[in-house]
Amino acid sequence: MIPDSRQGLDIPGQRQPGDLKKAELGVRDLLQVLDARPAGAQTAETAEALVALLSDFLKPQPFAPALSPSGEQDECLTLVQSIQFTSLCSCHLLPFFGFAHVGYIPGGWSIDVPELVGTVRHFARNAQTQEYLTGQIARGVEEMLHAGGVGVVVSATHLCACLRGEQSAGAELVTSCLLGSLRSDPRTRAEFLSLLDEHDVRSGGRS
Ligand SMILES: [Zn+2]
Repeated sequence: MIPDSRQGLDIPGQRQPGDLKKAELGVRDLLQVLDARPAGAQTAETAEALVALLSDFLKPQPFAPALSPSGEQDECLTLVQSIQFTSLCSCHLLPFFGFAHVGYIPGGWSIDVPELVGTVRHFARNAQTQEYLTGQIARGVEEMLHAGGVGVVVSATHLCACLRGEQSAGAELVTSCLLGSLRSDPRTRAEFLSLLDEHDVRSGGRS
C-alpha cells in the first residue's frame, strides 16, 4: 500500500458534518471581498462546485498497485514515458499539468505500465510543489520496487504562472529526481538521460 501522499501537509484528517458548507461560505466571502462576480452562474453555485471539485480531488485514495517479482532478465533499466497527470500547486491551489517520465532498475519487484500510471496519478492528487511531486514519485517507486535506482523527470505547465503572465501557454517547468544507481553511477545516469527524448520530455511526444 502506498502511504497517504499528503503526509506532512497541514490538512485535517477528519471532516466534520457541515464543513463543506462552511467552505462554500468561505468561497462566497472570498469572491465578495474580491468583488468577483462569476458570469453566467450564481455565486453560490460557483462556490458549491469549487468546494465539491477540490474536496473530491484532494480526498485521500488508498492505492495498492499490483507488483510482480522481478527476475534476472528484468534487472535492466525500464523507462515509462509521457504519463499524463494533473495536480494542484500549493502556492495558489491552481492546476499544474503535464507529463512524468519514470525510469527504474528493479531490485526485487516489477510493475506494469497501467499500475505505474496509477501510482503517478495517486501522488498527483495533492496540493504541492512540482519539486515535491517529483521527489514523492521517485521515493515511492524506490520503496515499492526496492529499486536499485530511480529517475523521474516531470514537465508541467502551471496555470498560476500563466495567469500572472510569467509562463506563456506551452512553456513548461522541468524538474528531476535521481536516486540510487541513477544518481551515483554515471553510466546508468547517462543511459537514462539518453533514453529521454527532449521532445517527449517537454510535450509528452503529443505535438
Ligand atoms: Zn501556484
